[in-house]
Parts: sequence; structure tokens; C-alpha cells
Amino acid sequence: MSVKTVAVVGAGWSGLAAAVSACEAGHRVSVFEASRSLGGRARGLLDNDLYAAVGKSVPMDNGQHILIGAYRQTLEIMRTVGIDPDEVLLRHPLRLQFPEGDGIALPDWPAPWNFLAGVLLAKGWSWSDKWSLLGTVRKWKRKGFQCESFATVADLFAGINTEVVDSLLTPLCISALNTPPNAASGSVFLHVLKETLAASTNSSSSHTNARPSDLLLPTVDLSTLFPNAAADWLRDNGASVHLGVRCEAPRWSTGKWLILDQAFDAVIWATSAPHAIQALSDYSLTAPTNVATYLNRWLKPARAIPYQAIATVYAYAPGLQLPQPMLALRSSPQAPAQFVFDRGQLGGPEGVLAFVVSASQGSREELQAQVLAQAHIQLEEFLNGQTLTALQTVVEKQATFSCTPRLVRPPQRIAPGFLACGDYIYAPFPATLEGAVRSGMMAALALEDMDGFHWKP
Ligand SMILES: Cc1cc2nc3c(=O)[nH]c(=O)nc-3n(C[C@H](O)[C@H](O)[C@H](O)COP(=O)(O)OP(=O)(O)OC[C@H]3O[C@@H](n4cnc5c(N)ncnc54)[C@H](O)[C@@H]3O)c2cc1C
Repeated sequence: MSVKTVAVVGAGWSGLAAAVSACEAGHRVSVFEASRSLGGRARGLLDNDLYAAVGKSVPMDNGQHILIGAYRQTLEIMRTVGIDPDEVLLRHPLRLQFPEGDGIALPDWPAPWNFLAGVLLAKGWSWSDKWSLLGTVRKWKRKGFQCESFATVADLFAGINTEVVDSLLTPLCISALNTPPNAASGSVFLHVLKETLAASTNSSSSHTNARPSDLLLPTVDLSTLFPNAAADWLRDNGASVHLGVRCEAPRWSTGKWLILDQAFDAVIWATSAPHAIQALSDYSLTAPTNVATYLNRWLKPARAIPYQAIATVYAYAPGLQLPQPMLALRSSPQAPAQFVFDRGQLGGPEGVLAFVVSASQGSREELQAQVLAQAHIQLEEFLNGQTLTALQTVVEKQATFSCTPRLVRPPQRIAPGFLACGDYIYAPFPATLEGAVRSGMMAALALEDMDGFHWKP
């Protein structure tokens, strides 16, 4: 291996994973991040002005996140930078239960027995509901969890009773793919099920006791969960991390790539797709023809990516406690939240809830009002007559790509010595932390074979 100077642009989870992996491989790494905080779309919010409302500081994130035991590389890289996942993630066997207790809760057993028992003991489903699910999952398994590339998730649900679709599969699809079942990719959904429900414990990380299907809920803010420790680890290992530095697209100059007038052997571009498109489109207008050809080839699929929003509504009622840290909610266009998290049970102050609206639509104010109304109806028995007050609502308009059938993802290589990473690059996953981390690690690996990757006329 030859030691290279590498610039990583963007310090979200993918950029930091790429930087840590490249640094571990012995390269000289510089990270540039436009914002003053680390973590990108999975970050703690630095300034929140909620002390007065709640009486203590309220750690919040740009959006409530869930990790699962199948996030092998994420859990591994957390360990690398000195974070013990068991200390910062609350592990629980998968359960999707509603406030009244209906739904599914897997026992802490190995697969497939946990899923089988979870379905047979699920509350609120008839025997016909349960058989319809088990029969269909058996069919998916027989086909190796594969389907036609054009199939939507809704197509896969044919033959499963409505109660199971509404109370389990639709919330699973929306939370995992952030795309409604009638528009979501069947093959990505089946891949997620294969990696979680159907995977044996052996295939979960060797660094944790978690089973692949376990829920891992952060008990610290998202920047503390990995990004801050990754930046400290990078500095301790000789890399530089520059915050508040927005980069324009690198410029090609006599065998090197220039970032802010500094020459690098390679660049890993780790911003979100919309930011990458903006920077590369600008440069493609002035770049030498051969460089512009590479940029335009990469830009074509990138420009075709559709997006979905996610909103998180933080609300507060003194002393409020839910029966579990996470509950599913009955959602509809007028009651848009699919899940609620009790942040008091996740390291935050008692009484603070986070409501998640995946694939959200409408304005911030509208969503907030709808979610509060939904909460007062569906969480009535826990509120004891109290009123929930909204603390803050964060809407991430381009939270994730819309995970539609046959979506063409842009490739990892933009041009010789110029690589892309991010949740939108890595193919078998939807937009997730694990997809982002794996894509970052793969970009770092690709630095090794750059010598065989020459300019073509
Ligand atoms: C509200 C919300 C909820 C989510 N929930 C979940 C969940 O429960 N589970 C899950 O696994 N995933 C979830 N995701 C998805 C997950 O957060 C993303 O897939 C992941 O964070 C993407 O990381 P990334 O590094 O690819 O991109 P980003 O996080 O977008 O990182 C890109 C970075 O590049 C920086 N940047 C941009 N332009 C420049 C420039 N010109 N120069 C320098 N820096 C620049 C940005 O500031 C940013 O820090 C959620 C996302 C959102 C928004």
C-alpha cells in the first residue's frame, strides 16, 4: 500500500467512517466540514433554548434515530473510536406495540424462534392474521428474500391480512425505508428483513450481544454517539478535522486534486447527494473536458434521486412516563406520527417525548398541531389530564432518498482519485446510518486500488 494524502469532505457518519478507516490504513487524512457541528443528518442539536420550559437542559437531535443489532459496521466503528455500544444504546428485542398493548414483541431468543413466538403471541391479531403473515414470510424465505426488481412493498403484502399490514408491516416499511409501501422498493424491504428477522445471531456484530433484530435506542445525543468521538480519535491519530469550512468541488490539477488550494492524492466526497450535485454541477461547467465527462456521467443518476422528509416533534408534560421507551402509534394523514419515544427513559429529562413522522408532508406548524392532537387522543391514559406542550419541531426536508423500485444509485467512483460516499451510494440498504458507515468504509478501501484506476481518454 502506498500512503496517500486524502481529503474527506463532509463529517456526517459516512465521512467520519471513511476518515477513520483511511487513517487506520495509514493514509494522511484531512476532514472538512461545512457546519460547526459533527454528524450531518444524525447530529445532536447544540443550542436549544428549552431550559425555561422544562427546567433542565434537554439533549435533542435533528431527528430521533433507531439503530438495530444488524448495524454490524456501525457498532464496530463505534468501538474503534472508543465508544462502547452497550453503554450508549439501550438494547431491547424488537417490539412494535401500540399504547393499548396490541402489537408484536419478540422474546429474547435466537432467530427464527423469536419471530415465530412473537407472531403467535402477538396481541390484537386473529389466528387468521397470524397464519397469513407466517405463510407469506415462509414464501419470502423460500425465494431467498428476493423479488422482481420492479415490485413495490405493497405488492409483497398481497395475501397478508389488513390488520397485520396496518399494524406491523406498514410501520416497519415506513420506518426502515422512509417511503410508503405503495412507492417503496420490495427488494430493499426484503433485504432489510433478511438482515434482521431472518439472520442468525452469528451474523450480528462480534462486538455486542445484540441480535440482528434487536432495537438499539441511543441514550446520548447523536453527536456523542459516534461523531464527536470519531473526530477526537482522528486528531489523536494524526488526522486534521476542520469545522466550519465549506468546500467547493475539488479541482483537477496535474495529477492531484485541489481542495481549498491544498493538493491531495485522493478526495472522498461525503456530503449528501444534493450538496454533491450542487458542487459538482458548478465545477462541470469549467472543468477540462475529460474531467467534465466523468462528472456528468456521475451526476446523471444522482440528479434523478427523489427525496422524502422526516419530522420530529419534541413535546413535554411534567412527570409523563410511557410504558416503554418506544411505542407505535396509529397513523393516518390527519394523525401523522408513526412512533413516539420517551426521552426520559433514554437519558433525557422525564416528561420529554419525541414523535417521529417518517415520509412527512405539510408545513412544520401543521405537522406539530396534528401530532399534538394525535398524542392527546392516543396517549390519553398516560397524560392523566395534562396538556402536552410542543418544545421544538425539526423537519428535515431531504432527510433520505425515496427508496423506490429500480432506483439507480450513483457509483462510488466519480473520477480517478475522486470517490463519493454516503447513504445514497451503497446499494442493498435504504438510507440508514449503517448504509452511510459501510459506504464510508468501502470508499476508504477503494483508496487501495486507485493505482489501477487511470484516466481514460
Ligand atoms: C430525521 C432523520 C431521521 C433518521 N432516522 C434514522 C434512523 O432511525 N435510523 C437510521 O439508520 N438512519 C436514519 N436516518 C438516516 C441517517 O441519518 C442518514 O442516512 C445518515 O446520517 C447519512 O449520513 P451521510 O454521512 O451519508 O450524510 P450527511 O449526514 O448528510 O453528511 C454530510 C455532511 O457533509 C457536510 N457538507 C455538505 N456540503 C459540504 C461542503 N461543501 N463542504 C464541507 N462539508 C459539507 C454536511 O454539513 C454534513 O455534515 C434519519 C435521517 C434523518 C434526517
